[in-house]
Amino acid sequence: MKVMGVVQIRHHFLLMLLSAVGRSQVNPEVCRYPLGMSGGQILDEDITASSQWSESTAPRFGRLDFDHGDGDGAWCPDVAAAADGRRQYLQVDLRSLHFLTLVGTQGRHADGMGNEFAQRYRIHYSRDDAHWVGWRDRKGQPVIEGNRNPYEAVLKDLEPPIIARYVRFMPVTDHSMIVCMRVELYGCQWLDGLMGYSAPEGHQMIYRGLDVFLNDSVYDGVAADRPTKGLGLLTDGAWGLDDFLHSPIYGVWPGYDYVGWTNRSFPRGYVEIVFDFDHVRTFTSMKVHCSNMFSRGVRLFRQASCFFRSEAEWEGDPVVFLPPADRVSQGARFVTVPLGERTASSIRCRLHFGDLWMLISEVAFQSGSAVYNTSLRGHPTNALPGEDPTHKVDDSNTRILIGCLVAIIAILSAIIVIILWKQVWQKLLEKASRRMLDDELTARLAVQTQAFSFLRSSSSSTTSTSSSSSSSEVEEGQGGGGDSGGSSTYERIFPLSADYQEPSRLIRKLPEFAQSADDLVASSRLLLQPAGGPDGGPHYAEADIISLLDGPPGASSLAAGPPAVKEFPRDRLSFREKLGEGQFGEVHLCEAEGMQDFLDEDASEGRSHGGGWSHGGGPLLVAVKTLREDANKNARNDFLKEIRILSRLRDPNIVRLLAVCVDSDPLCMITEYMENGDLNQYLHTLQLGQGPSRGAEGQGEPLGSVVSYAQLMSMVLQVAAGMRYLSSLNFVHRDLATRNCLVGASCTIKIADFGMSRNLYRGDYYRIQGRAVLPIRWMAWESILLGKFTAASDVWAFGVTLWEVLTLCQQQPYGALTDEQVIENTGEFFRDQGKQVYLPKPASCPDDVYTDLMLRCWRRNANQRPGFQEIHRHLLDNAA
Ligand code: AMP
Repeated sequence: MKVMGVVQIRHHFLLMLLSAVGRSQVNPEVCRYPLGMSGGQILDEDITASSQWSESTAPRFGRLDFDHGDGDGAWCPDVAAAADGRRQYLQVDLRSLHFLTLVGTQGRHADGMGNEFAQRYRIHYSRDDAHWVGWRDRKGQPVIEGNRNPYEAVLKDLEPPIIARYVRFMPVTDHSMIVCMRVELYGCQWLDGLMGYSAPEGHQMIYRGLDVFLNDSVYDGVAADRPTKGLGLLTDGAWGLDDFLHSPIYGVWPGYDYVGWTNRSFPRGYVEIVFDFDHVRTFTSMKVHCSNMFSRGVRLFRQASCFFRSEAEWEGDPVVFLPPADRVSQGARFVTVPLGERTASSIRCRLHFGDLWMLISEVAFQSGSAVYNTSLRGHPTNALPGEDPTHKVDDSNTRILIGCLVAIIAILSAIIVIILWKQVWQKLLEKASRRMLDDELTARLAVQTQAFSFLRSSSSSTTSTSSSSSSSEVEEGQGGGGDSGGSSTYERIFPLSADYQEPSRLIRKLPEFAQSADDLVASSRLLLQPAGGPDGGPHYAEADIISLLDGPPGASSLAAGPPAVKEFPRDRLSFREKLGEGQFGEVHLCEAEGMQDFLDEDASEGRSHGGGWSHGGGPLLVAVKTLREDANKNARNDFLKEIRILSRLRDPNIVRLLAVCVDSDPLCMITEYMENGDLNQYLHTLQLGQGPSRGAEGQGEPLGSVVSYAQLMSMVLQVAAGMRYLSSLNFVHRDLATRNCLVGASCTIKIADFGMSRNLYRGDYYRIQGRAVLPIRWMAWESILLGKFTAASDVWAFGVTLWEVLTLCQQQPYGALTDEQVIENTGEFFRDQGKQVYLPKPASCPDDVYTDLMLRCWRRNANQRPGFQEIHRHLLDNAA
């Protein structure tokens, strides 16, 4: 026999599970499975309590080794309730009868925040929730020593074990203390189904002057004349030694393990025991562990007669069994009584005396497919071969496996939930901080969103000659997608969408996009910039279009109405050479016969501003942009939109639209010819030479391929002048870069390419799964992350353009970074934790220009960036 002393061990949940899984049958060593407080198999609703300190210390938090979730780390009863003398308890409903061998308790630790624990506690239990029993150890002690600190789990063997469905942990306190508990129950399911037995009180034997108490000392039923509804020594899983005077349990009295009777008290010669079960079962056998010390007047019963009852009445025909008498071996043993597959919910067995005394220590039943007896203390030497009652068909392993799987699934689910929660939380924080930092922005976005929904509803079609009212601006925006069936990107794309808050999700690989986009808009300038970087690579990274629809108010009004230039007879255009290829088609150098007649006074002064036309009588050299023939309706509308915008812009540093051919196809826009092409290509061919670093002396055309710093700054000044003009109209360019500036004679710089504002309004681009291509290396952080384009974001792009000019476009901005890294860097600008990377100071750039101008253009707070008016003034002052 094995002594199960009170032990204090650390709780190793997993080890226990594994060892349990490894065993093939239930035995005393392994009927100690955690029953689901820590593992979660016991549901929250099955954990109740007499009171709770607060919702965060509700009973459901009283799970051993469970210190997270939304609670405060344990169950804690209400102190006030405890103080009024009521017993506080944490109750666990196991949903079915269990054989409990071990309990574990823990205090409230809560990652160091808690320091409450139960130093002592009691256990109460019930099988039917009506009759409650206070557990006591074999010596009658009801109180269990509990925890010494809030974090360590302390496990206690239950000796005797408990057979129960409901268990209450009752902290023992002096009522002034706050006590918190987390608990676990260990054992296995009680398959016998035996709810109680009732037997005559055991007798006292005097053996050679020794008192031998043969009563059922741990019986938990109602102790009246005839105990009823209880379980005790006969079902405690422990069977007695051969010598009934001895017990493996230290300090107990002689005969402790046995319940015994003398025949002197039973004139009929038998002891009747009634066994009550949880429901009607079909019984195969009953095993009775008996003493057979015939030298002391103790023998096996000589006959067993068992009666059965399924309903109210006992059946008349008993099963009678006569075990073979053994006059040789005095060893205690199990006697198996066959029960003939009788069905019953109660069995009444009469055990006939075989001698003066009859002593039994255990009774077990086999019904259905299970052999019933859960013995905790084995005594194999005395068990008859093949009769070891611990050999039970048990589904515990299956349950443990299922338990393990459930636990693993629960853990994985918890991890997923935590990760998701973290992400959501992070986004909430970002959103919140962004709102705090840029409240005005959110308001504006909201207004824009409203505006767009209004715009959608207010217009469904457009023509290129819509009126100049604000509603016609709307129609411009909508009209581009007229044949798109109104499948608006406006709804689908929202500035504060999750994608937009997660920069890395914005960016896609360009080739991938290019492929999908090819079929749709072959003419897309945004896919491949003709004026590519020095490496020939694209300037644009694909990203989801978010609120790029919020066209600048200036753009809207400029784009409204018919073009403010005249129609030019296309037969007076003679092709000279191809200048380049843009988003809508090719750009040709042409001679325009009689163009002067089509120019207004203002335009006829063009030559003096560096354009390529003259006001003499001969043909003018002009650049003719033609819409490709296979362009679809959206591209056509966008092209017309750019015409309307350009026709209204009048500034020496904005490329001039001279006339158009829109009465018939192909549509053409005729602009002034800028003989040195775009600024990026132009600068790329130059070298920085010695010259005055400041002042106006070095301005004008570079000598050969050598350009001075002053000449570079003169170019920048012109860009600033053009942008100052645009911003005065409240027009946002959105794509300012050297590639979009043209260079005329005498190094005149003019801003061109108003395609971005147009292209990103709508058109086939938007319908490519809501994606377009964005010049992220020139874009302000708020344009990338929030879709916000303003004059201040144009200022950001101006800073990059300045950087390009001073580096002679020798490299792409952030050339060492991938698109993804540029986007990540944008996130750093947003987070503003000092981790953002700025473009480095170009070698030719004076410190003050870098710090006072360039870096200021890239300030996080858009309000703190200089305006174009200020930039222009600053450059002018520096040039002077
Ligand atoms: P775009 O479609 O406006 O991007 O123009 C494509 C290319 O054609 C530009 O990169 C320039 O090289 C060239 N180009 C466009 N407009 C002009 C112009 N007015 N004068 C000279 N070259 C031009």
